Amino acid sequence: MAALADNLIAVRERIHAACVRVGRDTHSVELLAVSKTMPAELIREAYAAGQTLFGESRQQEAAAKIDALPAALRWHFIGRVQRNKVRKLLPAFEVIHAIDSLSLATYTAELAGELGLFPKIFLQVNVAGEAAKGGFAPDVLRAEIATLLELPRIEILGLMTIPPAAANAEIARPWFARLRELRDSIECEFAVRLPALSMGMSGDYEVAIEEGATHVRVGSAIFGKRTSQGDGQLG
Ligand SMILES: *Cc1c(COP(=O)(O)O)cnc(C)c1O
Repeated sequence: MAALADNLIAVRERIHAACVRVGRDTHSVELLAVSKTMPAELIREAYAAGQTLFGESRQQEAAAKIDALPAALRWHFIGRVQRNKVRKLLPAFEVIHAIDSLSLATYTAELAGELGLFPKIFLQVNVAGEAAKGGFAPDVLRAEIATLLELPRIEILGLMTIPPAAANAEIARPWFARLRELRDSIECEFAVRLPALSMGMSGDYEVAIEEGATHVRVGSAIFGKRTSQGDGQLG
């Protein structure tokens, strides 16, 4: 099907254009093709069109697809992390995007030790304080970041957020800016590097890039509309 390949080309062009607009290196943004709910054949088609990095949000669904697809594909877990799934997630995924509490991070570090792994993670921040969403409140993250940074085994790449749903991408801009500012202030205050920002989806990834995103999570703009729910985080 040409549509998927065309969609990928269009998204890559828009990523490139957004980088150029704000004077960023066009290689500084990673495109995660969010393939949750999509069958393995469509993922294979995206791979044939040059996409190697995919985002999934349910462990069981992802495990079946990972098994069925070439080993060259790379997988990031972007869904809400259930404790009882961490043991299976760690060996299967290169990066976990939504570690949303100190206790989950601590548990992940413990399991990583047991499994002999060094997982890369993002800390999810609930920038708008939405009751239904996971993530650290910004002030809780500040209070706990020193402890988080001392956890063995886990490499904290940076921060991740899912801003409130909005009809217009510009409405999301201040939330993206807030995540970047929080990252900048933590880097400064704690003398650490948190280089990555996972933010931006189909409706707003260009704005997210203008505000500093290094990982954009794009599903429907590549694969088309989903007909079923993807996970406990976003449909
Ligand atoms: C589903 C999902 C996406 C992709 O959403 P689209 O609007 O289809 O691009 C991105 N991030 C997370 C966490 C998701 O659950």
